[in-house]
Amino acid sequence: AKEMGKRQLVLFSEDIETDKLERSQLELALHAALARKELRVHYQPKIELGSGRIVGAEALMRWNHPDKGPIGPDRFIPIAEESRLIIPMGRWIIDETCRQIREWSDAGMRGIKVAVNISAVQFRSPDLAGDIERIVASHGISPDQLELEVTESVLMEDPAGVAAIMARLRLIGLTIAIDDFGTGYSSLAYLKTFPVSVLKIDRTFVRDLETDTNDKGIAEAIVSMAAVLGMRVVAEGVETAAQAGILQAMGCGLAQGYFFGKPMDKTLFEDHWRDRQAD
Ligand code: C2E
Ligand code: CA
Ligand code: CA
Ligand code: CA
Repeated sequence: AKEMGKRQLVLFSEDIETDKLERSQLELALHAALARKELRVHYQPKIELGSGRIVGAEALMRWNHPDKGPIGPDRFIPIAEESRLIIPMGRWIIDETCRQIREWSDAGMRGIKVAVNISAVQFRSPDLAGDIERIVASHGISPDQLELEVTESVLMEDPAGVAAIMARLRLIGLTIAIDDFGTGYSSLAYLKTFPVSVLKIDRTFVRDLETDTNDKGIAEAIVSMAAVLGMRVVAEGVETAAQAGILQAMGCGLAQGYFFGKPMDKTLFEDHWRDRQAD
């Protein structure tokens, strides 16, 4: 048994070494990808449950590695966060999204609000608000067409500092959504100290909505909490008509998920938007 333990330990540390090496290789490749403009944006529609119309989108980063093929954000975003590369990458996706908003609005596709994910490191980076203000102005779009999604965990550390940054972003005219809501520990009293416009119900509460009464209860609690605070609610990860029906019945206004459309490139998004407008 002692021998076994030793061997496992060796294997384990080799795994760690391999992982470290792979991470630093990916980090280098990511640097190059950013410089060579190899990153892409996909857009996932956000649907107004009452009308079935597309009223917005979430911008999600995509990376096609020259040798390894597509690498998911769950893999490359943590690496980008650790190396702080997420700051220029985040600036890039904001710029690209604003450019897209402008293009859509020029083409008559108006009223689409697009949300961009902001990592904690990026949120706390110096002059985030100033950078965004400049980018929005350079594309000549209205700031209220851009939304920022931050996770609940961002609110936990240095709440006064976070509230000040959010206040500045609100002053510019951007709206702020809390992503993966329900997975942290924010109370009603706590949440009201931040200028937040939207709560996004985490996918884990939507998945078993039809069978799990606890999950349904949590979703209902989030919807009524949002109503009290004057916030809108988006349900994430809606995959079935039944889930959409339950959410609509409990008063959830907006939804996003594979049932309505996966993240897609801009051309497909445009087709999708036209189809849904015509319904
Ligand atoms: P997220 O912000 O919670 O984004 C939603 C994720 O759920 C996306 O995964 C989306 O493709 C997936 N999803 C949407 N609808 C469904 C559904 O019905 N079922 C299931 N099973 N999944 C669904 P994706 O694109 O792989 O992104 C994963 C995470 O990576 C995101 O989670 C976000 O945290 C991060 N991420 C992606 N792009 C960016 C970015 O530009 N900046 C930052 N900071 N993070 C990003
Ligand atoms: Ca998100
Ligand atoms: Ca989410
Ligand atoms: Ca997530």
